[in-house]
Parts: sequence; structure tokens; C-alpha cells
Amino acid sequence: MSLDLLILGAGVNGLLSALQLAREGLRVGVVERGEPGRESTWAGAGILSPLLPWDYGAEVNALCARGVALWPGWIEALRQAGTVDPEYSVCGMWVHAVADRPRALAWCRAHGWRAEAASSAPIGVADANEGIWLPDVAQVRNPRLARALTEACVAAGVRLWPNTPALGWDVRGESVAALRTSTGMLTADRYVVCAGAWSRDLLPEAPARPEIHPVRGQMLLFRAAPGLLPCVLYRDGHYLVPRRDGLILAGSTLEHVGFDKSVTTEALGELREFALGTLPALEHADLVGQWAGLRPGSPDNVPCIAAHPRLHNLFLNSGQYRYGVTMAPACAELLADLMLERPPRLDPAAYRWP
Ligand SMILES: Cc1cc2nc3c(=O)[nH]c(=O)nc-3n(C[C@H](O)[C@H](O)[C@H](O)COP(=O)(O)OP(=O)(O)OC[C@H]3O[C@@H](n4cnc5c(N)ncnc54)[C@H](O)[C@@H]3O)c2cc1C
Repeated sequence: MSLDLLILGAGVNGLLSALQLAREGLRVGVVERGEPGRESTWAGAGILSPLLPWDYGAEVNALCARGVALWPGWIEALRQAGTVDPEYSVCGMWVHAVADRPRALAWCRAHGWRAEAASSAPIGVADANEGIWLPDVAQVRNPRLARALTEACVAAGVRLWPNTPALGWDVRGESVAALRTSTGMLTADRYVVCAGAWSRDLLPEAPARPEIHPVRGQMLLFRAAPGLLPCVLYRDGHYLVPRRDGLILAGSTLEHVGFDKSVTTEALGELREFALGTLPALEHADLVGQWAGLRPGSPDNVPCIAAHPRLHNLFLNSGQYRYGVTMAPACAELLADLMLERPPRLDPAAYRWP
């Protein structure tokens, strides 16, 4: 099959870009070094919102807001495709002890976020303090979302090459002629790098390369009774996220340790102390997991969604850092707008090649 487009990396950004462009009628392939969706996309908490939106710039919030608006449509598309249920739910987020609450509330009002000042948390949280309740915040369950997107790609005719590392490029003049992989050369009319934290190293030479670097995030998993925690809870840089079946995630760390995905006893102690100090009922819950993922870190959390400055048929969609799941539908949409040369919904200048 000759391909219009070959995507490198099958995380949420590669898979959703593939689905978006397959929907637009392109013949799409995806090359993945391991199993689809098993890196940062698998490891994340699945909160569909910036943690403290009032602390981020317009570039981040524009992608997040558009992503949040587009997710319900994608969830419906997954349902229609008969995939595994990604457990999307609008559960709300309680932000504990907001530093400058009047400023944060004013920001929410000005930017169309429903937000309520509240003097106590909606649940039995220790030391409940002046907080903000954001009722519209939703979540997805990451491993299930990754499976659902993979299944939807197959159903949409996207050709997947799992366990196939990309090794380099065959560049001819001003364009890419082929992608060299562990199983041989693959060719397409156009190529997109969506390789998360590994994206920068995979890009062919350019006058400048986007500053995408790995940022490790560790997470704990508790098994509690379903319903113990009804909403996402954010407190002092950490959060708890409840799943439908009673599992509760406690995250996360932000560590600059290169491509090291190991877990540490320090993070175990830090996250356990936060979780039990915040929700004392977790004392009786089993701690059933700890893992780490590598976020595609970028300056100010602003991804690069743009064409390569020299190679006209190569694009990049990466650097979503802490909000790659939230932003993914908006990034895929912007990528499609650029590739199909139609007026972009969001201003691409904010996400240009540096
Ligand atoms: C602990 C933690 C918590 C998080 N919580 C949230 C949250 O609550 N909300 C939110 O929106 N975001 C969250 N994130 C961030 C989010 O998970 C990421 O931004 C997002 O998953 C990035 O997706 P991606 O597709 O760009 O990268 P990835 O999911 O990392 O996918 C990149 C893919 O490229 C593949 N690849 C790499 N090199 C090659 C190669 N040479 N050849 C072929 N394939 C290759 C990899 O194997 C991988 O599958 C969190 C992340 C972590 C780690």
C-alpha cells in the first residue's frame, strides 16, 4: 500500500493524528518502537485540564481548551467504532488552598471556566482549606484510552507497525525520501514525528531543533473502595485521581533525569505521604503499583506543531509536556489544518518551529 502519510510514534499524539488524517481521507501508517501507547500516554493520570489553568500562558490554554472541547466527539467516535471503553467522565476537580484565590477566580470568569469558591472540599480531605471547585474537569483512563485509539486506528484502516523502531531518514535534497526502520525502508508522501520525549533526537538536522526533553513523572496506585473519592483533587503540586473501579492514582513527580524510567523509594515516600496526608482513608487501601513515565518536556509547556524548516514534507507534533492527553485532539486538528493547507482553527505561530 502506498502511503500519503507516515507517523513516527504511537502515543496519544501519534494515534490521534493518524485517526484525524485518516478521517480526512489520507492513507496513513504509524511506526512504533514498542507496543502502541505504552510510554508517557500509558503512564499519565488522564486529567483533561491544566492543573492550575490560571498559571499558564495563552498558548497552553488555547490548546487545552480546544482539546477539552473536542474530546467528547472523539469519545463518541471511539464508542461507535466499538473500541474498549476509555472511561471518560466529567468528575470535576477540587483545587485545594489556592494561593491567590481572587486572582484565580477572576481568571476563570474571564476565560469561560466554571469555577466556584468553596471553603471546604466536597469530600473528607484532611485540613480542608479555601479552594476552588472546577465542576467541568473530565478524565480518561490512560491504558484504556491507548487501547481504544489503537483499535480505532485499525478500524479506520491505519497501517500500524508495532515493535519497529525508526532508525533514521533518507533525505534527498529538500525532502525526506524514506524512513529507515528495523524492518527496512518505509516510504510515504509526508512524515510526522510524534515520538514524545524522543522526538528531538529523531529529527533530521535543522538550523534549530525544538527543545523537547524527557521529564520523568512517577505515580502510585492504591486500591480503594469505589466512590471513596468522587473527583480529581489537587493539592500543593500533587493530585489524586479516582478511577471507576476504586483505583486511586497519586501523582506525580517532575524529575530531570534523562531517559531513566526507574522508580525510586524517595518518590514512593513523597507520594505516599501526600496521599495519606490528604485523604486519610487511604491508610486502609492497598498500595498496588508504582511506575514512571517520560513526559515530552518543552519550554513553558508549549509544543511544536509545524513543518520542518528545510524538509518540506516533514512535520513535528510533539512537546505537549504535562498536558499531552488534554491537548491531543487540538494538536491533531492543527496538524491536519497545516498539512491540508486550510485556515487553521488555532494560530499556528504560537507552535512554530523555533
Ligand atoms: C506521570 C504522568 C502524569 C501525566 N498526567 C497527565 C494528565 O493528567 N493529563 C494530561 O493531559 N497529560 C498528562 N501527562 C502527559 C501526557 O501523558 C503526555 O504529554 C502524552 O502522553 C505525550 O504523548 P505522546 O504521544 O506525545 O508521547 P508518548 O506517549 O511518549 O508516545 C511517543 C511514542 O513514540 C515512540 N517512539 C519513540 N522513539 C521511537 C522510534 N525511534 N521509533 C518508533 N517509535 C518511537 C515511543 O515508543 C512512544 O510510544 C502525564 C505524564 C506523566 C508521565
